[in-house]
Amino acid sequence: MSTFSAPKGTYDLIPPDSAEFLAVREALAAPLLRAGYGYVETPGFEQAELFSRGVGESTDIVTKEMYTLTTKGGDQLALRPEGTASVLRAALQRNLHRSALPVKLWYSGSYYRYERPQAGRYRHFSQVGAEALGAEDPVLDAELIILADDAYRSLGLREFRILLNSLGDKECRPVYRAALQEYLRRLDLDEDTRRRIEINPLRVLDDKRDSVQRQLADAPLMRDHLCEACKAYHEQVRELLGAAGVAFEDDPRLVRGLDYYTRTTFEFVHDGLGSQSAVGGGGRYDGLSEMLGGPELPSVGWALGVDRTVLALRAEGVRLDLAPGPRVYAVPLGEEARRVLFGVVTELRREGIAADFAFGGKGLKNAMKSANRSGARCALVLGERDLAEGLVQVKDLESGEQSPVPLDRVVTAVRAKVG
Ligand code: AMP
Repeated sequence: MSTFSAPKGTYDLIPPDSAEFLAVREALAAPLLRAGYGYVETPGFEQAELFSRGVGESTDIVTKEMYTLTTKGGDQLALRPEGTASVLRAALQRNLHRSALPVKLWYSGSYYRYERPQAGRYRHFSQVGAEALGAEDPVLDAELIILADDAYRSLGLREFRILLNSLGDKECRPVYRAALQEYLRRLDLDEDTRRRIEINPLRVLDDKRDSVQRQLADAPLMRDHLCEACKAYHEQVRELLGAAGVAFEDDPRLVRGLDYYTRTTFEFVHDGLGSQSAVGGGGRYDGLSEMLGGPELPSVGWALGVDRTVLALRAEGVRLDLAPGPRVYAVPLGEEARRVLFGVVTELRREGIAADFAFGGKGLKNAMKSANRSGARCALVLGERDLAEGLVQVKDLESGEQSPVPLDRVVTAVRAKVG
């Protein structure tokens, strides 16, 4: 072991688990590619103020969990804790919103939050996300929820649920907010929570403590305060999901940790994950662009957690069909054989056949052990006598059968054997 280890709350992805992680990332993105979302990549850090404005001054993410730093030049930067604010910033900066709307983008990358680490909650984690900018259309909200559902199902996940709610808009939300504040102010709550009532009362509903939840039983719900436009919009989203065969649960208490959500809000939860059960979530954020100094740009998006999706697969016992390792393992015996056989391996790879090689001058016994462990279908063994005769031994690692093949025909012979 070295003197160093990965920082608290982080972990290294190493083979073979890393292959599963990569496959999950690809599977989460695949439905987006089929639906016209373009790939976007933004820096791992941004001006800290982008997040304090975009995510919200009163959120845990901004007040407690952001990794901030001051550069030598005096800039206040933050490692990105989430993707939406950065993607919207990039779209506005590069004038994407001046082209045909909606602008549909997807991303994949690392995010950082200084959280209390536990199973499924890390300080460095991965998300695949999607944002559709510049259209207020219930079909778009439904599209995104359906695409996430497709992604999880394509991986073989079954034990997840979709929770759905509407958070209203700038017409009805303020009225509800005031009603909720009035209710909350009468409760027995600590100083911090009292402060939250004044800044972002909806988030009090999200408080996980029993002592708080007990007092919220009769709290007013947004559902009962939605204006006609929001009600109709939400009903359309629900109908579109139903028509697509996507099951969901209405959750009138669902609010999310970020301030910028309006109308459609949803979360994907997995029942095999314990307390960190959210595998993904998102919603509509019609006011965010203006909060960042941009024009009116109603938008909707989601982010799916790659780490938790991997955990969910394990919880359900789903094994992914991962790309196989080498099909062929080459074992040279002697200096000249190394040179010749490495040439064969290079040729095989160029022909699209995955091949590996016994590096480091291993003896026959050790090299054959590595060949068996590699999962390859056959081994190519080249000794000095075979070399002199222009032959290579092709050994079937399943049956143990071995036969000599002329060196200049080995690629054809191997292709016939491993497909
Ligand atoms: P959020 O931006 O908080 O809605 O997060 C979206 C998704 O990212 C969640 O549903 C999780 O799957 C994942 N996620 C968020 N925070 C963490 C974390 N600290 N560790 C692991 N995954 C996370």
